[in-house]
Amino acid sequence: MRSIAELDLQYAHRFYGFKGEAQYLHGHTGHLTIEVEDSVNAGVNMVFPCNEIQKTAWDLLRNFDHALILREDDPLLPAILDVYEKQGIRNGAPTNKMMGPAFKTDLATAYPECRLVVTKETMTVEGMIKIVYDLLKDKLNIAKITFTSGVNAATADYKVEGSMDRCPLCGITLVNGVCPKCGYTKR
Ligand SMILES: [Zn+2]
Ligand SMILES: [Zn+2]
Repeated sequence: MRSIAELDLQYAHRFYGFKGEAQYLHGHTGHLTIEVEDSVNAGVNMVFPCNEIQKTAWDLLRNFDHALILREDDPLLPAILDVYEKQGIRNGAPTNKMMGPAFKTDLATAYPECRLVVTKETMTVEGMIKIVYDLLKDKLNIAKITFTSGVNAATADYKVEGSMDRCPLCGITLVNGVCPKCGYTKR
């Protein structure tokens, strides 16, 4: 069975080199749906708590929220960094609090201190799904990701292999047989 979690991300981007209006900088509220597949955990009668899926995803994905997402070869990138630098906000500002941990994968690098994500590929809805899967595939048994942004939408299915060992009391993944939330220990 599947547990399904949803979250919204507000961001600005553009399709550099794209022959259409999306080559201009603009913004969206993107809507992300993550489907996690596993057996039903008998203790809590759920596959996985949806708020915990949200929390796991949000920890990394909040770096995309109220962020600017640019492709690594976009000339806007050095231009914007230059403005941020001159303005004294390149390395952070007291009002920039909603930061996740900085991450770097083959597809994306997050600079939470200045709310910027630099991507290898154009950040289309398809591109975002690839990035999200790459960031979360080791943390969640992801069976499907759907991302919609304006009139654009894409979805991808993944084959789930194996089952996560989950706490029978609160449903989250055990770490070395111990629940990081309630302390339950598997015998
Ligand atoms: Zn767009
Ligand atoms: Zn627990």
